[in-house]
Parts: sequence; structure tokens; C-alpha cells
Amino acid sequence: MKAPWHIVGQGIAGTALAWRCHLRGQPFRLYDQPRAETASKVSAGIVTPIAGQRLTLTQGWAFLDEMEAFYAEIGQVLGDTFYERHPTVRFLINETESARWQKRLGDPLYLAETESCRELSPHFTPSHGCFCMRRSGFLRVAAWLAHSRHWFLKNGLLAESQVHPDACSPDEGLWIFANGPWLLGLPPFDWLPMRYAHGDILTLAIPDLGNDRHLYNGECWLQPIGEGYWRTGATYEARPTPETKPSVDGRGELESRLRAFLKAPYTVEDHVAAVRPVTLTRFPTMGRHPSKPHLAWFGGFSSKGVLTSPTYARHFMDHLLDDKPLPSEVDCLH
Ligand SMILES: Cc1cc2nc3c(=O)[nH]c(=O)nc-3n(C[C@H](O)[C@H](O)[C@H](O)COP(=O)(O)OP(=O)(O)OC[C@H]3O[C@@H](n4cnc5c(N)ncnc54)[C@H](O)[C@@H]3O)c2cc1C
Repeated sequence: MKAPWHIVGQGIAGTALAWRCHLRGQPFRLYDQPRAETASKVSAGIVTPIAGQRLTLTQGWAFLDEMEAFYAEIGQVLGDTFYERHPTVRFLINETESARWQKRLGDPLYLAETESCRELSPHFTPSHGCFCMRRSGFLRVAAWLAHSRHWFLKNGLLAESQVHPDACSPDEGLWIFANGPWLLGLPPFDWLPMRYAHGDILTLAIPDLGNDRHLYNGECWLQPIGEGYWRTGATYEARPTPETKPSVDGRGELESRLRAFLKAPYTVEDHVAAVRPVTLTRFPTMGRHPSKPHLAWFGGFSSKGVLTSPTYARHFMDHLLDDKPLPSEVDCLH
């Protein structure tokens, strides 16, 4: 019988790895220290083909089909749908962006993912035009984590406890730290090239938008979460600690960005923040510890955890079980 793996952390990363173990028949056990504000619990879970002010194709976009198949397959195990497609209207916010977009339209890759905006709601002001992305959507992250957790607990596969690498015995098998930003500065992983990026998100009531189910994106995004409620975010601020206190300045920044394209009145119903685990390369990082081979890590998913964690979890398993090389962009040891 195969020795179980011990996965530390049940955020987006640890959950993807645990389900990959389940699909491959690799025994595992999860350990998660319950915390209210983690990147995964706060995350909007949004996946879009084109992102950022430079309007570039999203890193890892080639993983989209595998990502959708993964969440659908586990959705069948759990009896629910977690990943939903929602078209995104992307507002061009200034002349530079508008000119950049005109250039992108000469590239078939961008053309394939977009179309012109039709029937734009009168509650928005597209000052420099807009385009629409059809294959975007979001993972209902809170439900994904909670349903997965319930299933792991029911099957005796999860313990609500904190694990320190010093307490991990080689006799018990492989210990994989998928503990998000808490990996930083944690010996013996303190040499990993990572940092913290704090992010705020607001929950809004916007009754005038009715049943509109589009995602909107300008200088910030606006996400429909049902019954007249929306979320908007996210700020991105490098910080020296994993402090998750919401920032007053962050709220001000989000509201001012939102007002640049939303005309409808709204009220702020909630304000939360969390810390993303970010690498210096912006790609995730994973591997076995070079001098303590019973320890491994899987993290640094930055702002792309939903899209990239299913594929990189599969690559990591192929590496650990079949000795296949890791994709070079996530292998910081070679
Ligand atoms: C404001 C904000 C908005 C975001 N929006 C998006 C988005 O739209 N789309 C997207 O794809 N990504 C988004 N992200 C990024 C995404 O949330 C992250 O990539 C992802 O959550 C990282 O997951 P993780 O499992 O590595 O870390 P975490 O979510 O931090 O999970 C780590 C887990 O490990 C546990 N833990 C820590 N230390 C220990 C220990 N010693 N023992 C046991 N358990 C431990 C923690 O309690 C936690 O449950 C956003 C992030 C933020 C902050």
C-alpha cells in the first residue's frame, strides 16, 4: 500500500492537490489551521483571458479547458457546480489603452477571445470604448472550499490543526506545505523567492443592476454574486507582513476606480482583505526540499490560483510519483 502524503493547508492550492491525489488514488491527509481571512476565502475566483492594464493574454490561459474539466469532475463528486461562465465587459479606461487594444485586434489570439460590446447596460459609462470576453467566469471559491472541506472531514481526511515543519517526521512520509503566504519566512522554506501582496475587496448592494450576470472590468472589476449584490476589487499592495486588516485607503481607491465606469448608486455592505502569496517571477513555485526530501512545497499562486492550480497540481504529482521534470517556469531548483 502507498504511504499517504500529508498536505498542509486547505486553500485553493492544497484543495487542488488533495483532489488530484484522490483522482490518482494517492492516499493523503490534509491539515488546515482554520483562519477567517485567507487569500482563498476572500478571493473573487475570477478567470479572464485578457488581464491587466497592458491587455495581455492571461498567464496560464492554455490551462482553461483542463481547469473547467477539473472543477466539473469534482463538482460531480460533491453534487454541485462551482465554476460558472460569465461574459466580461472590459472598459478601456484611457486613450493609451484604447490604442493598445486597436493593435491587439490585429492578433488572431486576441480576436478569438473577444467580441464587440452589444447592448451595454445604461448604468455604465465606457469613456474610451469596451470589448467583451466570452470565455471568462469565476469559481464560487467559498462554496468550493467549504464543500471540499466537508467531504474531506466526512471521509476522515482532514484535521483542523497547525503543522510546523520541525514536527514532520520522515518516517511518516512526504509532507507538502501548501500553506499560502505562511510559507514565507518559515524555516526551512525561508529561502524561497516570495513576498506578500495585500488585497481589499468590497461587497456592494446595487439594486439598479437587477439580474445582470456579466462581469465588468475597468480600473477594477465588478462581480455579480446574486440578489442585487456585487463584489468589487481588488487592490494590490506589497506588504512586509501577512496582516489581513482591511485598509481604509484601499476602500477609497476601489470606490474611486469604480465610479469611473459605474453610474448606478450603491451601498458598501462589507469590506474584507487578505494576503496573496506571490513569487518574484509571478509563476507558482513547487518542489521537494533539497536537503530534507520528506518536505515539499506547493504555493505562490499569486492572482491566478483558480486557473493554474489544477494543472500545476497534476504536474507536481507527475513529478513526485513518476519523476517527470517540472515545467521550467515553476521549478526554482534547476
Ligand atoms: C483580494 C484578493 C483577490 C483575489 N482574486 C482572485 C481572483 O479573482 N482569481 C484568482 O484566481 N485568484 C485570486 N486571488 C488569488 C488567490 O486567492 C490565491 O492565488 C490563492 O488563494 C492562494 O491559495 P493558497 O492555497 O496558496 O493560500 P491560502 O488561501 O492562504 O491558503 C493557505 C491555507 O493554509 C492554512 N495554513 C497556513 N499555515 C498553516 C500551518 N502551519 N498548518 C496548517 N495550516 C496552515 C491557512 O489557514 C489557509 O487555510 C485573490 C487574492 C486576494 C487576496
